[in-house]
Amino acid sequence: MSAANQFSSVASEAEHFDVLIVGAGISGVGGAVHLQQQCPDKRFVILETQSSFGGTWLTHKYPGIRSDSDLYTFGYRFKPWSGKPIATAEAIREYMGEVIEENHLAPHIRYHHRVETARWDSDSALWTLEVRNSVNGGLRTFTGRFLWMCQGYYRHSKGYTPEWPGMENFKGDIVHPQEWKEDYDYTGKRVVVIGSGATAATVVPAMADKAAHVTMLQRSPTYFAPGENRNELADSLRELEIPEEWVHEIVRRRILKDGQEIARRSFEEPEALRDELIGAAKAYLGPDYEVDKHFNPSYRPWRQRLAFIPDGDLFKGIAEGKASVVTDEIECFTENGIKTRSGEIIEADLVLTATGFNLCILGDIDFTIDGEPLRFEDSYTWLGMLYSKVPNMCWVFGYLRTSWTMRSDLIGDFVCRLLKHMDETGVQIVTPTLRDEDKAAPPAPFVDPENFNAGYLLRSMDQLPKQGPTLPWQFPQDYYRERELIPAAKLDDETLVYRHAKAAVKTAAG
Ligand SMILES: Cc1cc2nc3c(=O)[nH]c(=O)nc-3n(C[C@H](O)[C@H](O)[C@H](O)COP(=O)(O)OP(=O)(O)OC[C@H]3O[C@@H](n4cnc5c(N)ncnc54)[C@H](O)[C@@H]3O)c2cc1C
Repeated sequence: MSAANQFSSVASEAEHFDVLIVGAGISGVGGAVHLQQQCPDKRFVILETQSSFGGTWLTHKYPGIRSDSDLYTFGYRFKPWSGKPIATAEAIREYMGEVIEENHLAPHIRYHHRVETARWDSDSALWTLEVRNSVNGGLRTFTGRFLWMCQGYYRHSKGYTPEWPGMENFKGDIVHPQEWKEDYDYTGKRVVVIGSGATAATVVPAMADKAAHVTMLQRSPTYFAPGENRNELADSLRELEIPEEWVHEIVRRRILKDGQEIARRSFEEPEALRDELIGAAKAYLGPDYEVDKHFNPSYRPWRQRLAFIPDGDLFKGIAEGKASVVTDEIECFTENGIKTRSGEIIEADLVLTATGFNLCILGDIDFTIDGEPLRFEDSYTWLGMLYSKVPNMCWVFGYLRTSWTMRSDLIGDFVCRLLKHMDETGVQIVTPTLRDEDKAAPPAPFVDPENFNAGYLLRSMDQLPKQGPTLPWQFPQDYYRERELIPAAKLDDETLVYRHAKAAVKTAAG
């Protein structure tokens, strides 16, 4: 039966699973493998809005789309990576396709299934999801004991573009990279890329050959780490014919160790680290280039993931004159381009707004808990995985500095441990619940704005859950702490309140 035929115009009889996974991106597919390996008896389904797997790596199609972190750590713990460290979206999807095939996941994934509502009922200890077919509009119902939210953190359908005066007068095209169409021809066009993050750094060199010229227009600089797109240690190990599983594990450990050193130095000797990063830019751009103006940020390094620039391509494009950087604020759009605050006019046929994402918390799903609308912003995070007042649900939010997947793998182990614990103790419901002492201090934001500067988070912090004064009501966002903390997290801690489903109790009594 095709996916479309399984839907009706009214909600159908529910299909039941032990675990409902929302999203077939890197987190959802990884979560399913962990579940299969660690809880082989659990029946699960992955519900995905889009027509295929990949999430981020399917949605984004702009020129040059690639990872900004290495695939030894962005790849899964359980599946060796053998390509270049910085990988294209296509290579990441190929890798994920192999994971799906090798683990026979295809029958578990339902594409074109957009989850619209999620209702928790404590009596039955069940989530009921209403799911819309994104092709024909039909509705289906799924029920499940545990909801594993792997829907990411941003709205896939629309990127974030600020409003600037005069945009309506601009005669060229304004496109957000997230909405880029692959057949868009920019040959010979003057392109302005607004933004300074990893997307801008990818798209600028990728477009530089075909475009007449590409200008990266940024309000303020970002740190970039240039380097060859190869891993020397991996190459040496392969030369010695070390098995790929070992290469993967050894190289991951090396990269994580080096990352830990960068993290330490960013706190203890930020100026020396800054000098090194700026020095690397200078080596590509030469002594006359205004590196301090364009590539020396005002913030301390490591407040976001250091975007790796494979083979220094962004800097090479600038050095060759195919691309340039303007560091200034936009005053307005004109008919033919952009005027900056300092009065510079940048002529353009195409403006690409690499200005970030719209945070989309819990996948735009309408949540209710026992009939009450969920106010997620009022809940507290339990180690950045579970949430107070929300029973039987985990949201996978990965790392902002280390590769995302390092955290989704840790969470995978945790969820499986929790599910097994609940089975062993014969309970059906777990609800993270604050103790009186946890309510004593004022709540803190979901992530510390002093420590992370991702715009999409800072813009939407009021919609996100809170952190409490002590563990487990905190979200360390630090792999090096969490790799100890999460596996050791106590399941019989009194902050996790377990209950039986009333229906199940009746059945047992009856
Ligand atoms: C361009 C770009 C480059 C990045 N590069 C890196 C990098 O190099 N390293 C790194 O660590 N991180 C990177 N990130 C962060 C990246 O988003 C994560 O690393 C990771 O891919 C997120 O995976 P995910 O599966 O959690 O979420 P996503 O990739 O966002 O996938 C979520 C899936 O859930 C689906 N979904 C959402 N809502 C619903 C719903 N209501 N019903 C059904 N399905 C739903 C979506 O369609 C999507 O397929 C990058 C992000 C972007 C945008």
